[in-house]
Amino acid sequence: MIAGAFCSAGAVHGQSAEPWAGDSIVDCHHHLRRTPEASIQHLDGCRVSNALFLARDVSAGRIQAIRAQYPGRFLGWFASTDITKPDAEEILTKAVKSGAAGFGELKFHVEAAGPELRRIYALAAELNVPILIHFQEVPHTPTEGVFATGFRDFAAMLKAYPKTKFIGHADAFWANVSADYANEAAYPTGKIKRGGVTDKLLGDYPNLYGDLAANSGNNALSRDPEFTPGFLERHLDKLIFGSDCSCSDGKGGGVSQSKNPPAARMAGKCVARETLSLLKRTTAPAVFRKLTWENAHKTYRLKA
Ligand SMILES: [Zn+2]
Ligand SMILES: [Zn+2]
Repeated sequence: MIAGAFCSAGAVHGQSAEPWAGDSIVDCHHHLRRTPEASIQHLDGCRVSNALFLARDVSAGRIQAIRAQYPGRFLGWFASTDITKPDAEEILTKAVKSGAAGFGELKFHVEAAGPELRRIYALAAELNVPILIHFQEVPHTPTEGVFATGFRDFAAMLKAYPKTKFIGHADAFWANVSADYANEAAYPTGKIKRGGVTDKLLGDYPNLYGDLAANSGNNALSRDPEFTPGFLERHLDKLIFGSDCSCSDGKGGGVSQSKNPPAARMAGKCVARETLSLLKRTTAPAVFRKLTWENAHKTYRLKA
């Protein structure tokens, strides 16, 4: 198996519109799709060599089959289960024993410092696997609700669970790069006020990492171009590329951010392409490689 090999039937030779084509890149926020072909279509379409699946606790068999069908493309998987249920710990422990490399994404209507998540933080430390959390304080639709609320006070959790490897993701994690965020919008725009909670926690706590995926990650890196290079430089060992893109073809077809009207800026676009373009033009090659390959391998202990 060639690690990170890119093997798209539709690869264009010569000059490419994707300056990352040929690089080994792992999309660490790739939700398991209806078919393996749909996953491959997305990867090939946006010219990403590899992916890490975010899946369910029961997905081990399916993922094993996909990995056998497409050797070298899928480097592992994370397992999620309903953490509000009493047997969640047992289920997640079993998933790790069957090969899951982490927990996530965990997206539930609970408090970030509440008892449902706390016991999962403790379990992640015990099993020595990372935990990927969706933080969101502003609903995208009237009925959606909020998830893992209270990120502004997350320092207390980082302190209480020093052996847990937390991966921050989604709206509230990324909106809080700005010190003036007050849950006024899912995706705030404009200049970033320096000294935001996210920037500070990433700097202060070795057990917090950031998932660059989704409109939330892309928005935070796009909204204030003067902020972005310094931010990426400060946390170059702790940020991990992912797309969370649901477009069908890796070119923006279908819906890239499903059930999410406030993320309209991504309509017709592939989130993977948008964020890879941004990272490529903002970082030196060695940093780009950290963000899109090396950090994932180190933090998630990927084998290939
Ligand atoms: Zn999410
Ligand atoms: Zn896409």
